[in-house]
Amino acid sequence: MNETQKIRVRFAPSPTGPLHIGGVRTALYNYLFAKKNKGTFILRIEDTDQNRYVPGAEDYIIESLKWCGIPYDEGPGKEGDFGPYCQSERKKLYRQYAEKLVADGNAYYAFDTAEELEAMRHRLKEQGSSSQQYDSTTRGSMKNALTMSAEEVDRKIGNGEPYVIRIKIPEDELIVVNDMIRGRVEVQSSLLDDKVLFKSDGMPTYHLANIVDDHLMEISHVIRGEEWLPSAPLHVLLYRFLGWEAPRFAHLPLLLKPDGNGKLSKRDGDRLGFPVFPLQWKDPKSGEISSGYREAGYFPEAFINMLALLGWHPGTEQELFSMQELIEQFSIDRVGKSGAKFDPEKAKWFNHKYLTAKTDDELALLYLEELSQKGISADKDFVVKVVGLIKERATFVKDFWEQSKFFFVAPTEYDAKTVKKRWKANTPAMMNELKEVIGNVEDFKAENIKAAIVEFIEQRELGMGAVMNAFRLVLVGGAFGPDLMQIAQLLGKDEVLKRIDTALEKLTN
Ligand code: GLU
Repeated sequence: MNETQKIRVRFAPSPTGPLHIGGVRTALYNYLFAKKNKGTFILRIEDTDQNRYVPGAEDYIIESLKWCGIPYDEGPGKEGDFGPYCQSERKKLYRQYAEKLVADGNAYYAFDTAEELEAMRHRLKEQGSSSQQYDSTTRGSMKNALTMSAEEVDRKIGNGEPYVIRIKIPEDELIVVNDMIRGRVEVQSSLLDDKVLFKSDGMPTYHLANIVDDHLMEISHVIRGEEWLPSAPLHVLLYRFLGWEAPRFAHLPLLLKPDGNGKLSKRDGDRLGFPVFPLQWKDPKSGEISSGYREAGYFPEAFINMLALLGWHPGTEQELFSMQELIEQFSIDRVGKSGAKFDPEKAKWFNHKYLTAKTDDELALLYLEELSQKGISADKDFVVKVVGLIKERATFVKDFWEQSKFFFVAPTEYDAKTVKKRWKANTPAMMNELKEVIGNVEDFKAENIKAAIVEFIEQRELGMGAVMNAFRLVLVGGAFGPDLMQIAQLLGKDEVLKRIDTALEKLTN
């Protein structure tokens, strides 16, 4: 890449299912790199493998990027000068490149059936050969244009026999991939196999379509998951065979399971109790549902912040980043080589941080939605005060209800364990006296309520805990919740007195 080249990067998922969080991270890093360098971020859908196409997956990818706040500059529904952006709509483009490779002697037609390929593998295995690849050592004994006459090849193609076009990997050559993260990666060409590039159904395979499109779309940097590193030498060769300058490569470290034992897989999430997908996904065939971060109650900003730090390190202690800060600070130099362990607890920590950073007003609006779904209508100013009291104890907006339902619905049942511990034989008498004390508080503010109760406790020589814990039980129905005097103030005098009466009635028999 020369200095004046424009930065163009792409995220190129295959719509074979929902987008895994590793894929979202790849999209994010591409986006950050593009925006940091005033470049263009492209979404390209790699849907050439029709056997693996899953309906709904493409929409899912697009919706996920939208929810995450990772907009693309060019892509499906946002046509630019390099479209179309779905490979299935570019089908007619690829054949000419496969044929050029054939014409130049860098690829060849092959007619082997699935059975013949299997027989070859079997034979090599029997012979104790360490590799069972279609490559320079085996291609000479297979059914292809290298072992047949030109007439026979033409005749077979003319007869409509199925064929593939395979790359002809050089026999013994050192192939070098200069990776921005992994440095110089060398591979001996003898280790590579003659991969299929094109099939007689007119579809290219991933490898051919990927490099043709990266070239035609003028991609400057290929930033993708490490699982594609083994394909990079083949891609380097293809660029050379087609006479094109290769883009720069950056292969991102894997996302690992929380215990560090292996790659975080699509199955891990629901098995270990956390989502591995940005949005909930319903498998169109089995109907199986996989959970998503959105539905679990995460803020997209928290989710993105968490993902950004899985593999990239800012070089400072800073942990909370807005998207704008990520764009400003991101660099490939600070992406590590080793796998990044996914930590579901840390994900929650981020959400808690983003939740508590919101104003009580913002949170109240979110909570009001939840409340109205429960059929509860409440005054906004009241809800603002409620969330102010409980937000420090919440990770998600949906936690608010557990922490605060007593503000909206008076307890009618009381936690049995707490009752046993806090409601003693003398408690009803004490509560009756407390009623009077509370009834006499004029300006019903937390500090005044507290002063009155403390004075009562001292005069009557009661235990602080005995009174306060029973009072809490009366107001909330258990042994939880924020500051008791704040609760009393918010509920108001009448409601507090009513709740004492209810408890006296229900707990005394
Ligand atoms: N379609 C490939 C995938 O699903 C793209 C790999 C690449 O970025 O080259 O991940």
